[in-house]
Amino acid sequence: MRDRILLCLAHMSGKEQDFIKEAFDQNWVVPLGPNVNGFEKDLEDFVNEVKVEGKNQKDDVAYLDKKVVALSAGTAAVHLALIACGVGAGDEVLVQSFTFCASSHPITYLGATPVFVDSERESWNMDPDLLEEAIKDRIAKTGRPPKAIIPVALYGMPYRIDRIMEIADRYGIPVIEDAAEGLGSRYRGRVLGTFGKYGVLSFNGNKMITTSGGGALICDNADDKNTIMWYATQARESYPYYQHEAIGYNYRMSNICAGIGRGQMTIIDDHIAHHKHVQELYCKLLKDVEGITMHTNPGGDFDSNFWLCTATLDPELRIKGQENAYKTIITGAVGGAAGVIHAASTATTDCQPNDNVEALRVFLDKANIEARPLWKPMHRQPVYKNAPAYVNGVSEEFFKVGICLPAGPWVTDDDVRYIVDSIKEAIV
Ligand SMILES: *Cc1c(COP(=O)(O)O)cnc(C)c1O
Repeated sequence: MRDRILLCLAHMSGKEQDFIKEAFDQNWVVPLGPNVNGFEKDLEDFVNEVKVEGKNQKDDVAYLDKKVVALSAGTAAVHLALIACGVGAGDEVLVQSFTFCASSHPITYLGATPVFVDSERESWNMDPDLLEEAIKDRIAKTGRPPKAIIPVALYGMPYRIDRIMEIADRYGIPVIEDAAEGLGSRYRGRVLGTFGKYGVLSFNGNKMITTSGGGALICDNADDKNTIMWYATQARESYPYYQHEAIGYNYRMSNICAGIGRGQMTIIDDHIAHHKHVQELYCKLLKDVEGITMHTNPGGDFDSNFWLCTATLDPELRIKGQENAYKTIITGAVGGAAGVIHAASTATTDCQPNDNVEALRVFLDKANIEARPLWKPMHRQPVYKNAPAYVNGVSEEFFKVGICLPAGPWVTDDDVRYIVDSIKEAIV
């Protein structure tokens, strides 16, 4: 039997242990230190480089001057960005509905309300027209504009950041880019997370690079970086004793995790290139398979890192075993999800992927391939049933027909061929 092919699993360069050893040797086993500073510098070098195509001159490469703060998680980065944008109890924040819960949960930590915005069909990300409609309607209903806008690079795909920034600027609302899944994705040559006031990155174990767990916030300037670092280290004042004039958090990255991050930065370009290569191979091999469509860059401005490769299934496509889809209650975690999972009380919910999608997931699972439904839109999550939502049906439609396929650095060309053969075999 072949080894299980996972959706996306961390891959080490070998250099991580050198940086960690250095931290132990120098006794920097704390949430600050040379690896944290070094990792932030590496990230700044990476995000600040703009790739201008089509010209063969030395000034092809332009540079930004963004600053980066390393934190304990991407979720912490979202939380601190919201605080820095002044979000507090009773405020509203506009957030893409088609996302992982970490984009919106921190809004609720602050006693604020997420207002969900649906997606447009090409990028699957925040629909700019709907965004503007939502802003106007919130102003009409509440008398004031929402405090921030959070577009999300779902599976790495860039959002229409030019239009989103134009609208946000017109209404004077700061943008927090959730590029947790989109590290190294670019829009017009510029790295995601560098357009808005803040940009969120994640280094969880399944993301483009990992620090085991961790995240970062891209900031506009050194002052903003300083404010974020202050909040991330319990908001201390410079007295000889602990003096607190604001509420802070313990969100700084440890020097050990940052050591892993420095090792990972030596192979980040290879990882991104590999994800794109795997995507290309899926596209090529699935091109003539009727009823299955790969999600691809909607145009030349978009340069996704293809963190996960995703496909949609025609609702008419028949998959082996689909008559048995959702017949049994699942009691454990599907895939590699970590942590305690509540046992489900029902086999179905009122919003779930189509039977053929679930049947394909089960078929691939039996072939030792991890596949997963797309993320269920937040406006359809029971926990957010009372949150305002501006909906056009797009995210719910894709949720019902979409599937995530393995894409990580461990996935070989041979694996992709095996996955595609298995998909073909699953089709009735
Ligand atoms: C992973 C993820 C996050 C949060 O990152 P963590 O490091 O896991 O806390 C935020 N937003 C999105 C869209 C993500 O996929």
